[in-house]
Amino acid sequence: MTRLATDSGAELSLETTVTGIDPSGVVSLVSPAGLAELRPRAVLVATGARERPRSARLIPGDRPAGVFTTGLLQQWVHVHHLPVGRRAIVEGAEHVSFSAAMTLRDAGVETVAMVTELPRHQTLGGFALASRFLMGIPLLTSTRVAAVHGRGRVSSVELADLTSGRRRTVEVDTVVFTGEWVPDHELARRAGVRIDPATKGPMTDGGGQTSVVGILAAGNVVHPGETAGMAALGGRRVAQRLAERLRRGDFDRPVGGVEVRVVEPLAWAWPNVVRPDDVPDRILLRTRTFTGRRTVSVEQDGRVLGQARLRHATPNRSLSIGGGWVADVDAAAGPVGLRLV
Ligand SMILES: Cc1cc2nc3c(=O)[nH]c(=O)nc-3n(C[C@H](O)[C@H](O)[C@H](O)COP(=O)(O)OP(=O)(O)OC[C@H]3O[C@@H](n4cnc5c(N)ncnc54)[C@H](O)[C@@H]3O)c2cc1C
Repeated sequence: MTRLATDSGAELSLETTVTGIDPSGVVSLVSPAGLAELRPRAVLVATGARERPRSARLIPGDRPAGVFTTGLLQQWVHVHHLPVGRRAIVEGAEHVSFSAAMTLRDAGVETVAMVTELPRHQTLGGFALASRFLMGIPLLTSTRVAAVHGRGRVSSVELADLTSGRRRTVEVDTVVFTGEWVPDHELARRAGVRIDPATKGPMTDGGGQTSVVGILAAGNVVHPGETAGMAALGGRRVAQRLAERLRRGDFDRPVGGVEVRVVEPLAWAWPNVVRPDDVPDRILLRTRTFTGRRTVSVEQDGRVLGQARLRHATPNRSLSIGGGWVADVDAAAGPVGLRLV
């Protein structure tokens, strides 16, 4: 990847943080060499997504050491080779949560339970079986970490059973909060880019164009919680489209588009801006709840643009529907709505 970038003439600036993108396109940087500013013709924001940390989950209690996200845990164990603890609780039961359990095992930590507020795990059956029967980790469903206790170091967590309301205390010295992805959208937001309240990332069309001319976005900042492969393929598609537009010289013209909105239990859809002259192959979708086989209806101002049958949906995992209906979108009409019927 690095070779591909440098061979194409890109200059890589390592140890460099972008501190701001002005709506006019000026990019501010800070690095060991000091402060700098760039004035590129285009900015592609690909800042990724982070797992929601404990503070943002509003979990009361003390503020001891021993609280991780999966990302922090994996850096701690695999990059810095630091000791973690002895007994852990993992909150979350999506793909990355099982990855956290494996990292804990590699670090010699016993995972006493995985807990999820949802009624089932949200990963592949094989991962869940391996975790239950090979690693001996119980999965507590409809359960959440209600408080973290400990002076200096985590000593216990309080678990709340969301069905019965009962609480119990479990002695652990480590808690890992996993998943619940939040796009790292701060740079894009401060640049004046329109943010989708559903994904919490920049709204873009399939070519990555945001609401601000000259600023594009791709990867997990626009579709939080997708795999690395999806982010890489999406990034390549956006970069190719950007290169074509720069060559054609029409990059500086606003492209417009119609917003795509979802109705619960759909959680989000992406691309979240569409234009009839730019039909995407697929639209990614997520749901908040487990749903059986349902139909997604795509509507604009009361007109049905298309319907698609979905397979069973699992929260925290994507489904997709074909994008053919985008050709029938009225560019002058209101937002497109997606709902389950
Ligand atoms: C702990 C963990 C485990 C995962 N395991 C898997 C797995 O097993 N398989 C899989 O397919 N996917 C996995 N993923 C998901 C995978 O990492 C993402 O899908 C993928 O990395 C997203 O790519 P991206 O380019 O959108 O963002 P990222 O890979 O997150 O890249 C964003 C980059 O932007 C940089 N950045 C952010 N802000 C700034 C700034 N202001 N200035 C400069 N640079 C900035 C960051 O440093 C980072 O390098 C995992 C994710 C995590 C957190």
